Amino acid sequence: MTSRVYLFTCIVCPLGCTLEVEMDGDKIKEVKGYTCPKGREWAIEEVMNPKRVVMSVIKVRNGKLPTVSVKTAEPVPKAKIPELMKFLAKLEVEGPIRVGQTILEFEGIKIVATRET
Ligand code: SF4
Repeated sequence: MTSRVYLFTCIVCPLGCTLEVEMDGDKIKEVKGYTCPKGREWAIEEVMNPKRVVMSVIKVRNGKLPTVSVKTAEPVPKAKIPELMKFLAKLEVEGPIRVGQTILEFEGIKIVATRET
C-alpha cells in the first residue's frame, strides 16, 4: 500500500493546531498534532470527505435590491460545490427576503439569506 501524509492547519478554533494525517492506502493510519477531539475529527473529514460552507448570491424579483447574498446552513461536500453553484446561478426568487430566511434547499441543505432585500 502507498503511504501518504497530509498536513493541515486546523480551522475549527483560533488556536490553529498543525495536524498531520498519515494514510496507508485509503485507510487512516495515524492523526497527530491535535489538541482536542474536534481537531482530530476535522482532520479525518478533511482527508476523507472535505466540506465547506458555500456563499453566493441569488437574483431577486421585486426586492429592494436585484440580488441577495446567501450561504449554506451547513458545510457542503467539496465535490458537490460546482453543481450547487450552477443551481444557484440559475435561480431567481421573489422578494422581499429577510435575513436568515431559508430560501430553498439543495439536496437537503438549507440555503439561507445573509441580508435583507
Ligand atoms: S485541534 Fe482542537 S484546539 Fe487545535 S485548532 Fe483544532 S479545534 Fe482548536
